[in-house]
Amino acid sequence: MRKMIRGLDAIAQTCMALAVAATGCRYQPPPPDQPLLTWVTNSFEYSTDPGSWAILTNKIDDIHKVTNSAFGQVARINFNFPSAPGSTVLSNGGQGWPILDRNDPNYVNDGSSERFYGSFIQNTRNTNSAFGVFWVLGPNSSFPICGTQPKVLGFTYDATLYADNQVPGAASNRGSVVFTGWIDGITQCQWYTGAGYPAINLYIRVLTHEMGHQRADLTHSDEFPYYHTGPVPVPSSGTFDVMYSNALASSLRIKTPVFDQHFDLATEQTPCLTLTCQDNLICWRSITN
Ligand SMILES: [Zn+2]
Repeated sequence: MRKMIRGLDAIAQTCMALAVAATGCRYQPPPPDQPLLTWVTNSFEYSTDPGSWAILTNKIDDIHKVTNSAFGQVARINFNFPSAPGSTVLSNGGQGWPILDRNDPNYVNDGSSERFYGSFIQNTRNTNSAFGVFWVLGPNSSFPICGTQPKVLGFTYDATLYADNQVPGAASNRGSVVFTGWIDGITQCQWYTGAGYPAINLYIRVLTHEMGHQRADLTHSDEFPYYHTGPVPVPSSGTFDVMYSNALASSLRIKTPVFDQHFDLATEQTPCLTLTCQDNLICWRSITN
């Protein structure tokens, strides 16, 4: 009892001290303990083309580790990434790997890219794995990589295009493509190196973003803000979560990307709210293989 009284005294003194600088003081109890979720570990396939492998070989384990941190922090989900060099490095045109023509106008963001990558993923995914990513060099382009025109750094097939936050049932419909060559080029631009952004941060950000689309059909936070209503945790507070449609320069300093989170995980056990990335990711923990 004595300790408790002294504790209250201390709170009162703190309030008085704060009152000098602020107009009021409110004592708030700490939030209730959040329920501890068990881990969900998903099987995962990743493949690269040879050019991408040359770029990724010394980075891939770190990229995977940090991406897992982002999903683990928000929903206790992680991916069983095969460790290097266990990934499949396939030559174009060999072993069922389709020939991707880097000069094909459909390669990147035009009206038919959805169909182009949709069939690429459906024809190539090893469906023994629940989720998957292909790292490919990406399109050749006539415009300078360090210019201001937007570049498509990754693509996730959306088999449920007209239903937000809905993951397709078939693993063949789940897949992302990440353009290694474009990311590598950007990380060598003067605006990137001059600002001191670590190169690996952009790889992590693109992979986490695309896996957000794939793992829970997450939407872009700037286009669909009503699915991203939660606070963005530190150290990115005050900015968009990783599902922002661009790689925000201000967040490139931060190695581990963040998803927006529900205020109180206890109230969020209602199945499948869609107010935050965390809601949706927790909902889709139902995919456990
Ligand atoms: Zn996106």
